[in-house]
Amino acid sequence: MSIEVKQITKIFGTFKALDDVSLKVETGELIALLGPSGSGKTTLLRIIAGLETADAGEILFHGEDAKEKQTKDRSVGFVFQHYALFRHMTVFENIAFGLRVKPKSFRPSEQQIKEKVHELLKLVQLEWVASRYPSQLSGGQRQRIALARALAIEPKVLLLDEPFGSLDANVRKELRQWLRRFHDNLHITSLFVTHDQEEALEVADKIVVMNAGKIEQIGTPEEVYHKPVSAFVLNFLGNVNLFHARVEEGKLSVGTAPGVQEPAAKIKSAKMYVRPHQLSVTREPLSVNSVKVVLVFINPAGSSVKIEACAQDGNNFQVEITQDEYKALNLAKNDEVYLTPKKITYSEYEI
Ligand code: ADP
Ligand code: MG
Repeated sequence: MSIEVKQITKIFGTFKALDDVSLKVETGELIALLGPSGSGKTTLLRIIAGLETADAGEILFHGEDAKEKQTKDRSVGFVFQHYALFRHMTVFENIAFGLRVKPKSFRPSEQQIKEKVHELLKLVQLEWVASRYPSQLSGGQRQRIALARALAIEPKVLLLDEPFGSLDANVRKELRQWLRRFHDNLHITSLFVTHDQEEALEVADKIVVMNAGKIEQIGTPEEVYHKPVSAFVLNFLGNVNLFHARVEEGKLSVGTAPGVQEPAAKIKSAKMYVRPHQLSVTREPLSVNSVKVVLVFINPAGSSVKIEACAQDGNNFQVEITQDEYKALNLAKNDEVYLTPKKITYSEYEI
C-alpha cells in the first residue's frame, strides 16, 4: 500500500512543527525519515498513523483519503523507540494482544491466535521466548517482539519511530540489517524515523531529510550523500570540510596561491564543501588549490586512515585516506603536507 503525504502543516500553539510537507512512499519501499531532534519526524509519523491530526493537508493510503478511516482501520503497525511491551503479560500475550482486542466478528479463534503468534515468533526468530516476560529479554529481543506485536494485525504499512534508538551500537547494527531483510520478505511498505545518518544510509531505499519542519531533500542514499542540495543535508550526512575560496584578480582559488578555478568575474567569495575521502594528501602542492596543513592527529585503526589537519589560518580538516596511501606517504603527526580537493561535493557562492 502506498502512502502519500500532501502539503501537511501542523501547528502546536504558535509553533509550526510541520510546514507544507509532501512526500510519497511507493508500495514495498523502505523509507527513512532522517533529521535532527525536533525536526518534526515523530509528528509526521503520528499524523500518518492517525494518532495526530494535521492542520492542513491530507494523507492518502493507496490513493484514498485516510481521514475517512479510523486509526485501527488503516492497517498500520507502529513500533516505538521504547519497546512499550506490556510488562505484566508474557511475550505470547503481548503479541496476541492486537488480535484479542478485535471486535468479536473479526476476532480469530483461540487456536488461530496461537498459530499466528507462533508464526510471528518464528519470523522474528525468537520461538523459545513465548512464555517469558519482557523483563527477561535483552533489549534487542524486546524490540523484535515489539515488531512481532505490530505485525500481528497484518499491517500493510509499518511505521517505526527510532526503533533501535535505545540499543547498543552493535545490536543496532545487527537489527538494522535484520529489518532490511525482514521488510523485503514481508513485502510491506515501511517508513522509519531515525536521527542516525549511518542507519538511514545503510537501510533505506530512499531518505527524506528533514530540518525544522520542512523537507530538505528526498533521494536515494547515494543521491543525498553525493549530491546534497543544501549545506544542511551535506553536514547532516557525514563529515565535511569547508574551504573558503578567495577571489583575486577575478580568479577564484582556495589554496595559498592565486589561480583559476572557474570564471569568477561576478563572484565575491565562495564556500566549497569537500568530503574527507575527496581530499588528496601530498608532500608537495598539486595545484593552485592545494592547502598547506599540519597533521594534528592520525587514527590508522579501521578500514581507512582518519586524519585531522590544521591550516595556517586555523581552519581544521578531516581527511580519510586508504591504508596503502598512508603507508606510501609515511605520514607522522606534526608533518607538513598539502591537501587538494579531488571533488567539490557542494558549493555556495556569494555574488
Ligand atoms: P522529532 O521526532 O523530529 O524529534 P517531533 O515531531 O517530536 O520531532 O517534534 C517537533 C517539534 O514539535 C518539537 O519542537 C516539539 O517540541 C514540538 N512538539 C511535538 N509534539 C508537541 C505537542 N504535543 N505539543 C507541543 N509541541 C510539540
Ligand atoms: Mg521523535
